[in-house]
Amino acid sequence: FRHGEASEVVVPTPNGDVYFGELHPIVVVAGPCSVENEAMIVETAKRVKAAGAQFLRGGAYKPRTSPYAFQGYGESALDLLAAAREATGLGIVTELMDAADLSAVARVADIIQIGARNMHNFSLLKKVGAQDKPVLLKRGMSATIDEWLMAAEYILASGNPNVILCERGIRTFDGKYARNTLDLSVLPVLRSLTHLPIMIDPSHGTGRSEYVPSMAMAAIAAGTDALMIEVHPNPAKALSDGPQSLTPDKFDRLVQDMSVLGKVV
Ligand code: PEP
Ligand code: MN
Repeated sequence: FRHGEASEVVVPTPNGDVYFGELHPIVVVAGPCSVENEAMIVETAKRVKAAGAQFLRGGAYKPRTSPYAFQGYGESALDLLAAAREATGLGIVTELMDAADLSAVARVADIIQIGARNMHNFSLLKKVGAQDKPVLLKRGMSATIDEWLMAAEYILASGNPNVILCERGIRTFDGKYARNTLDLSVLPVLRSLTHLPIMIDPSHGTGRSEYVPSMAMAAIAAGTDALMIEVHPNPAKALSDGPQSLTPDKFDRLVQDMSVLGKVV
């Protein structure tokens, strides 16, 4: 790892290049856990764009604990993300679970997300390392910092320098009140260990929408480069992760509050 020099990841989007890194404004990625239908994804995209987000997130392939739970709409959801991208100019962040879907995902995604459950999937890491789209690498739910950085190294060593690290909460002994323990100490720790940009995901980090704003603010205070926030037009009806999703109105208020602390957008 290179010390003392922050690198930037530049992501071209229809609305222009977006820069991730210590020397740039905070980048905001927002959207639903899953892409559910065209109306909801396009409406959400418009709302998060108006609030100040640069990227729309939305899952087409969902890594669910139960095989009987909603698994995502797959390729048809990718088409809906493309429609939302077209309608708003937002960049798209979506998860790749299976290397077989890489070309379909890469056609739509401006950033390919590797989820927490695949952080240790070294063959998948090598495959996204051998293509050109930037990669958002989520921390495994029980991964040490060194394991996470070595997973990033798999992507870098395969030839792709554009990696963003995303803390999304880790498993600790108490999961009763928050889904995970959001490890904000990664911000100062990673700054001393790596040049890569850092994103914080307080939505998966807490699992509860009412805890998201304070953790987002704390992440900014601790120096995050980017945030990922789940936003759904009707969280009570969401097909996945409704309890941790903000409404567009609450997201809008959060971005206004965040702008007081740090340069957002
Ligand atoms: C997600 O971003 O919706 C997701 C499944 O995240 P994670 O891999 O962090 O659980
Ligand atoms: Mn989710």
